Amino acid sequence: MQSDSPRQREPIAAIATAAGPAGVGIVRISGTGAFDIARAIGGIDPKPRRAHYLRFRAADAEVIDDGLLIYFPAPASYTGEDVVELQAHGSPALLRLLLARCFGLGARPARPGEFTERAFLNGRLDLAQAEAVADLIHASSEAAARAARRALDGEFSRRVHALTEALTALRIYVEAAIDFPEEEIDFLAGPELKSRLHQVSALMQSLLHEARRGQRLRDGLHVVIAGPPNVGKSSLLNALAGTERAIVTDIAGTTRDLLRESVQIDGIELTLVDTAGLREGADVVEAEGMRRARAEFARADLALAVVESGSESAQIPALREELKGLPQVFWLHNKCELAGATASTERREDGLHLWLSARAGLGLDALRDALKQAAGLGEAAEGAVSARARHVEALQRANTQLEAATARLAEGSGELAAEDLRAAQDALGEITGRLTADDLLGRIFGSFCIGK
Ligand code: GDP
Repeated sequence: MQSDSPRQREPIAAIATAAGPAGVGIVRISGTGAFDIARAIGGIDPKPRRAHYLRFRAADAEVIDDGLLIYFPAPASYTGEDVVELQAHGSPALLRLLLARCFGLGARPARPGEFTERAFLNGRLDLAQAEAVADLIHASSEAAARAARRALDGEFSRRVHALTEALTALRIYVEAAIDFPEEEIDFLAGPELKSRLHQVSALMQSLLHEARRGQRLRDGLHVVIAGPPNVGKSSLLNALAGTERAIVTDIAGTTRDLLRESVQIDGIELTLVDTAGLREGADVVEAEGMRRARAEFARADLALAVVESGSESAQIPALREELKGLPQVFWLHNKCELAGATASTERREDGLHLWLSARAGLGLDALRDALKQAAGLGEAAEGAVSARARHVEALQRANTQLEAATARLAEGSGELAAEDLRAAQDALGEITGRLTADDLLGRIFGSFCIGK
């Protein structure tokens, strides 16, 4: 009955889910001998993919619990190996007894992520899909969960493959030109190559855009709140967070250190950092706060630049200088009610401008909506796939190589261009795991929980 498929490895077992006393707990076993372990514990020869209701027995035949036993023969299982799942009552003590019984029958404890790692090694999932399993488990919003689900179904991987194939075709074309030196220059300068390069580059840009959006959905936005003292930064943080975390006073320079607050807006996590007011002539402690503020800017996705309605011309120029490296800035004209303005929104060349009042609670919904859009939620989340910083970084490298290849081709150096294209392909291969170092695999699967 037991499959002797080459996919089998030593048996591992772990508690896959341990719901509370009222719920169901699952012990999962994968690998060689999983069938024999199931037979020993359940006292029957389980049929493939059938739920058998029976008693789980210890070595001395005492009943540990009753529940369901399901056997998934290789290769049509999660790991691609023989897998057995025992569904028992969710008590942790009871599940540990069941697990100990599996160990007594030859299984060893599974390492974190080892089931998914085996699924990857057996070709059931590629690396980006395996990562999506972890992202699905840890998703902090419905949109993030849906995006992870799409990535697990292979949507992101398919786009990476399509780009890889387009790059390969381009490289073959260039290499063919190199093989016919007398025609090489014509080939490399021709319109056909230009149009192919253009197509691949467009695919690359759109995937990079998608991956960045997916990463924001997965990781949330890192938002800093910046601005001169006393414009209402702490008040704004409090209004968004719905707490009195930041100290609000009207003495300039109250916020000497950074205050962090996690805010959930429709499930997406925003890290708000209220920075020390940026100003000249501050004392030593405050100067340290400003130094930390600038360090925060360096890693933020978005800044909320707060100024006082009516004082914009005095405040915006210095702030703009301070924030010029940031990917995105929202200009918040606070205390709008004092300047006689109503809450409103305007998109300008330097970013989105919002007139609001943290104290009166005006314009905050518009700000929340804008933050949601920036995080990749809202309508923008349609069809999004989750991605990780690792994927974005690999795509950026591939993009740099493609740009280098384009420059080489313009110079007529076909050989060097082919090298660059190969390097771009390798960078893409890291995303799906075709080309991935063992230590990276260790880090990826090591961050999973046990039993997954
Ligand atoms: P920060 O130094 O930029 O963090 O500013 P605070 O949040 O400490 O606010 C400074 C002062 O401005 C406090 O007295 C707040 O009550 C006041 N303030 C903040 N937001 C508003 C607002 O929208 N309207 C008005 N009128 N006052 C505000």
